[in-house]
Amino acid sequence: MSPDTTLDQAATLSYDTTSFDQYVMKTYGRFPIALTHGEGCRVWDAQEKEYLDFVAGIATCTLGHAHPKLIEAVTEQIKTLHHVSNLYYIPPQGALAEWLVKHSCADRAFFCNSGAEANEGAIKLARKYAHTVRGLENPIIITAHASFHGRTLATITATGQPKYQKNFNPLVPGFVYSPYNDIEALEATLAELDAETPQVAAIMLEALQGEGGVRPGDKDFFQRVRQLCDEKDILLILDEVQVGAGRTGQIWGYENLDIEPDIFTSAKGLGGGIPIGALLCKSSCDVFEPGDHASTFGGNPFACGVALSVCQMLEEPGFLANVCDRGQQLRQGLQAIAAEFPGLIAEVRGWGLINGLELKAEIELTSIAVVKAVMEQGLLLVPAGPKVVRFVPPLIVSEAEVDRALGILRTALSSLA
Ligand SMILES: *Cc1c(COP(=O)(O)O)cnc(C)c1O
Repeated sequence: MSPDTTLDQAATLSYDTTSFDQYVMKTYGRFPIALTHGEGCRVWDAQEKEYLDFVAGIATCTLGHAHPKLIEAVTEQIKTLHHVSNLYYIPPQGALAEWLVKHSCADRAFFCNSGAEANEGAIKLARKYAHTVRGLENPIIITAHASFHGRTLATITATGQPKYQKNFNPLVPGFVYSPYNDIEALEATLAELDAETPQVAAIMLEALQGEGGVRPGDKDFFQRVRQLCDEKDILLILDEVQVGAGRTGQIWGYENLDIEPDIFTSAKGLGGGIPIGALLCKSSCDVFEPGDHASTFGGNPFACGVALSVCQMLEEPGFLANVCDRGQQLRQGLQAIAAEFPGLIAEVRGWGLINGLELKAEIELTSIAVVKAVMEQGLLLVPAGPKVVRFVPPLIVSEAEVDRALGILRTALSSLA
């Protein structure tokens, strides 16, 4: 994504970007707006232009902006105790771990600060299990083409998209890729890798591929993967960083697939915008001992106290039902728009409130062009690759807001068609 500031757009931006551009490393292509405040599903830029936020910090602001519960949790925790070291017991960390375990298939949790860091922990845990339980010397983790697992060295290696790896070699050894939702290809990859002696330690997948184009996992595929893992003592790791914590209308993405992973990771939506990551696993594969893994900020009282409040909101009556209902409303609306513009739109897909609109491959229109067009009309969306427009609003989005977003999209597509 490279939404570079064009000159005339920059001229209308009341925030002066000169020093920002001078002092901040240019790792991001940025749209030429500066967001300054928000409330619910709305945000405002430096010129007080209002936007309907269907990005939510990329599937992160579960409760939207300035939610009273979030304000209360943040205030309460900062007034009480915000950070101590894992040298000591941290009650909010224990309480969040208990909530996560009681609301998932996992038995234990480790806390860190981001999705990539949670996935690093999962990779380390799977490798230690392979070494100490199975005696594998060079354990391999199979991941999927078009996957996304983060930006650290190990996680860009796990990510099955060469564009994220370019110029960063040598990559981390021990990763092999196979096509997503393709059981025959996976079986062939496994058979080849384990032909002489077993080497495959884990299979790591997203329940729904987010960055790779909003591609839901196929139930039959995942059930067969689960069986293969059981037969061979291979660990199944699910990266729930984007789809976990209520985004799909279930608490966890894997609930849509009727399987249970051995290990899974969470981040983005878990803290409602306060940075936190979590690694969760079954006790059968919890081989970590004191000294094996750590994080200075990980599991601090502030992040855990706030994340627990976010999690408790997921349990409020009607909360997840709203995610399902608004998701269905959005997909139906997008289907109707797809029918109006058959020359532009190839497919609508998603679960709950993570949805994608795929543009036809053979036309020139790109996801970034659609994102720019709706932004002008006051709607924020985010691409998921060059041809998919992603809709990941706060989970508290209302029926009227979904209708408004659909209206803006329809207007923007009419002008682009
Ligand atoms: C965003 C994302 C990550 C990386 O999370 P960070 O917090 O940016 O490190 C990993 N996996 C998936 C599936 C993601 O969507």
